[in-house]
Amino acid sequence: MLRRFLLYLSIAGWARWIVSQLGVARRVARRFVAGETLIDALTVTERLNQSGLLVTLDYLGESVKSAADTAEVVSTYQAMLQQIHAKKLQSSVSLKLTHLGLDISQDLCVTNLRHILTTAKEHGNIPVTIDMESSDYTDRTLQIYRTLRDEYDFSNIGTVIQAYLYRSREDMEQLSAENAHIRLCKGAYLEPESIAFPEKADVDRNYAELVEVYLAAPTQSYLCIATHDERMIQAAEQTIRQHQIVPSRYEFQMLYGIRGPKQLELAQAGYKMRVYVPFGEAWYPYFMRRLAERPANLWFFARSLFRA
Ligand SMILES: Cc1cc2nc3c(=O)[nH]c(=O)nc-3n(C[C@H](O)[C@H](O)[C@H](O)COP(=O)(O)OP(=O)(O)OC[C@H]3O[C@@H](n4cnc5c(N)ncnc54)[C@H](O)[C@@H]3O)c2cc1C
Repeated sequence: MLRRFLLYLSIAGWARWIVSQLGVARRVARRFVAGETLIDALTVTERLNQSGLLVTLDYLGESVKSAADTAEVVSTYQAMLQQIHAKKLQSSVSLKLTHLGLDISQDLCVTNLRHILTTAKEHGNIPVTIDMESSDYTDRTLQIYRTLRDEYDFSNIGTVIQAYLYRSREDMEQLSAENAHIRLCKGAYLEPESIAFPEKADVDRNYAELVEVYLAAPTQSYLCIATHDERMIQAAEQTIRQHQIVPSRYEFQMLYGIRGPKQLELAQAGYKMRVYVPFGEAWYPYFMRRLAERPANLWFFARSLFRA
């Protein structure tokens, strides 16, 4: 119930307006966000790389409604890719199609994505992952991913599948046969029961099964196991051991600010461990989704509000 309410707030304009004004919200959000500028994000990336962690950088923003605003998004991603290359950082990039204008027009979005992919290719094939947004975008995201992946003949382009959707098993089976680079997460949006498991236990069961479906298939596909859930991590490790999956077929991923010690533990155990590092001024919906995932974060936020 609380999760659904917070996810509703994450897309409500009035709530965005109120919460974004609060200095205390900005401070609490900093736990999950590297900062507001690219320089902040690059500084965090260097620090994480030094401790043995890989990074994927995300410029925060979604649901952009003006074509002119998408030009700034493209140039920020291009500057990010140039800096990753120049500073020899161990970082990929993650992006959202509605940040590149998918709500305005698919052509605009694809043109913007092409500019970013071209820059990524010119700077040493830096991997690019297309995040998955709500189910309104699932088909279009998979279609754009497939088109550009084939156009660029670029194995470093990936996308995301959400274990809470009923359709995901079929998607994973198809993507596995295509040797796709996939991040598997549980899913962070408000979805109706008609298309998504309402019970967390079913999402968890599906997540562990999908890891096995993907890794055990005799393909060259690549899986990013994106979860902070101890049981999911253990189930994935069990699948890796049981099927003797080589390290070139998978990595673990977690979000910046969540389970830092576990991130280091996995890296020290010899796994590839990538941290998703968001930055930028448009932190509100990302922050609300993080609150929705864990009620304890909300109480921490509420306590900070009353202390302010
Ligand atoms: C690298 C990465 C990329 C992602 N990309 C996408 C995407 O493109 N599309 C999408 O829909 N979702 C994405 N997500 C979010 C994902 O769908 C989940 O909402 C999120 O990861 C929480 O699920 P969980 O697997 O960690 O399990 P949960 O069962 O939610 O959490 C397990 C445990 O992890 C810890 N934890 C989880 N979340 C938090 C939190 N916010 N604060 C503090 N502790 C927490 C707690 O200890 C919790 O008990 C991404 C997640 C990761 C890690």
